[in-house]
Amino acid sequence: MTPFPAAPPFALRARLLSPVTDGTTLDVMDGLIEVDQRGRIATVGAWPGAEAPASVIDLRPMVVMPGLVDLHVHLPQIPNAGLGSGLDLLTWLDRYIFPLERAYDRSVAELQAPSAFRAFAAAGTTTVVAYAALWEDSTDAAFAAAEEHGIRAIIGKVMMDRITYDTDIARNEILERSLRQSDDLASRWHGRDDGRLRYAFTPRFAVSCTAEMLRESAALAAHHGAYWQTHLSEDAGEITEVRRHFPDARDYLDVYDHAGALGARTILAHAIHLSDREVARLVDSGSSVAHCPASNLFLSSGMMPLGAYRAAGIPVGLGSDVAGGPELSLFSVMRAGAVTQRVLELSGRADPSNATRPSDWIRLASLEGARALGMDGEIGSLEVGKEADLIAVDPRLTTPLPGDDPRLDADDVFSRLIFRPHPNMVRGAWVRARLLAGPPSFDGIG
Ligand SMILES: [Zn+2]
Repeated sequence: MTPFPAAPPFALRARLLSPVTDGTTLDVMDGLIEVDQRGRIATVGAWPGAEAPASVIDLRPMVVMPGLVDLHVHLPQIPNAGLGSGLDLLTWLDRYIFPLERAYDRSVAELQAPSAFRAFAAAGTTTVVAYAALWEDSTDAAFAAAEEHGIRAIIGKVMMDRITYDTDIARNEILERSLRQSDDLASRWHGRDDGRLRYAFTPRFAVSCTAEMLRESAALAAHHGAYWQTHLSEDAGEITEVRRHFPDARDYLDVYDHAGALGARTILAHAIHLSDREVARLVDSGSSVAHCPASNLFLSSGMMPLGAYRAAGIPVGLGSDVAGGPELSLFSVMRAGAVTQRVLELSGRADPSNATRPSDWIRLASLEGARALGMDGEIGSLEVGKEADLIAVDPRLTTPLPGDDPRLDADDVFSRLIFRPHPNMVRGAWVRARLLAGPPSFDGIG
């Protein structure tokens, strides 16, 4: 039994696979990655033979790759994962989701959030961008659980002052209280542990927020240098409602633009049904899109034209959107995304010549996700100087028959991880080189 290293410094021998900032893919069949005392990557390269450091943990034939970045998930909704497929968004929210979120008080969060973060780590996710519920105390408990667990987390208290399950308070007091509580949470948590924990102001979406809440939350996010996240153009019924509530807006994105909410720290989930004007404005504003294809199929929301958005220059990463999406694993999300793009190509709505390859999907789930958060200088790839957010994956579990195939190139290995994911294939996950609880044999490999 070789134990995984629990804390830096350490050195691992493994196959190294990673997107690289210059657009290429790193693939070192027999590689060495060294992590320094501060949890930063000090060496990435070929196994140096006689020059190897004295103490190395040999993980071959495992693959070491960057930890994945989930740009969009709802912590209180996780128990509902897999329920309500095919309902339209607004019905699904009413029937399944709002009752669950309403019940997400401090004690529920204290019970569920630690398990949730272990489950993310087990799925290979080392950075999670999450919505909590409307309640300050359970958002606080979710942050405390992330602090304790070690995962990198950006979390926000959901804000809703129009259509809301916040019914224990006079309607005209919701706005002021929600802003004050969000402000307090950001003061407590944004930047905690040297930036491992960050705050996202989180108005749910334009249907459930007044123009004033959108505007004031964006102003607070700017004041704190925090993120601002919401949903955009997910579903036809939702878009109709937004038009009804904001008759003066040019389109859905314009509602958020008018609030002063667009910019480099803004993450917009879904963004499926956009006009050319909205696409251009997203690019101009530098706002990011969290692409959630598993959710979009599960709730019949639509198929996002990923290729066109990427060609236009929108920063795009991936989100599980649990419980709109049925699974926490971003590998499963990549598979749903690949299927979606294939359907768009087959129906003549996407150009097959710029099809998304397996290595592109891995890049979206790691380096591009980091870029969407403005963190691509810190995480998202195996590059010297970055913080060591890593996962160790066992590709033997993805083969159709026993026995691994060392001849596979990087795209083929990624293809197996995406199209034949195994629930136990992520064996280790580290943030800043600190081992996270969750993967099935986090305390050792046999
Ligand atoms: Zn969502």
